[in-house]
Amino acid sequence: MPKASQKSEKPDIRGFLIDIDGVLYVEKQVIEGAVETLNYLQREKIPFLLVTNTTRRSRYSLLTNLNRMGFKISLDQIFSAPFAAAQWLKANKATSICLFAQGDTYREFKDFRNTTHNPQYVLIGDLGEDLTYEMLNQAFRLLMDGSELVALQKNRYWRRSSGLAIDSGAIVAGLEYAAHKEARIIGKPSPDFFEQAFETIGLPAQHLAIIGDDLEADIDGGAAAGLFTIAVKTGKQAGRSPVPGDSTPNLWLDAIAALPAWLRENYS
Ligand SMILES: [Mg+2]
Repeated sequence: MPKASQKSEKPDIRGFLIDIDGVLYVEKQVIEGAVETLNYLQREKIPFLLVTNTTRRSRYSLLTNLNRMGFKISLDQIFSAPFAAAQWLKANKATSICLFAQGDTYREFKDFRNTTHNPQYVLIGDLGEDLTYEMLNQAFRLLMDGSELVALQKNRYWRRSSGLAIDSGAIVAGLEYAAHKEARIIGKPSPDFFEQAFETIGLPAQHLAIIGDDLEADIDGGAAAGLFTIAVKTGKQAGRSPVPGDSTPNLWLDAIAALPAWLRENYS
């Protein structure tokens, strides 16, 4: 029977990778029950790692922001695309970069020379309203002169409180097209990003579930990396009905607030 076989295939989940934007908050608004859910996981000693593609802030300022919103977490519980990029650059013995990103993201890259003079890598993050034609053209020229293109993430869009907003994926795709180069993609859904996250949390894929609102980056990416996948109907999925061709997570939850009840029902 399908039900029985589903039950016997219930994964041995021992920890969670949790997306931040659209799962814990939307801009300055905490999603109802998110703080309590993370408190529950802490209390139950269930390890989790917040995995985010956001490139608008460093982990330090993400942490400050999350703490201010009431999330009782520490720096080592945040794993971001810029941080993963810095790890990757170190592993590849890189010395020079040219970083195009917003906010204090540069703090993750203090071990590298940030230069517009023949950098080894051009790093592209979400520039939002800061993006200018001049910047785009500078990145393009560096690529034409031999720098390699690194996309901190390649998301198509995200949700702001005012509605959907174009993300850096479109900018990366434009640069790839113009410079005839393929970017190395750091953030979700890159398999390397997930591998780095598994190492950081200290659990293999078969004991982890991912919770996210992005069907490509979180759900498809997570499934490809071998994770149990949980999609939430908040953030990008708020008010959206599934359409043909959508990826199918292992589980849909209305919001992360529903996680403790689901765990109690299935794992106690
Ligand atoms: Mg998200």
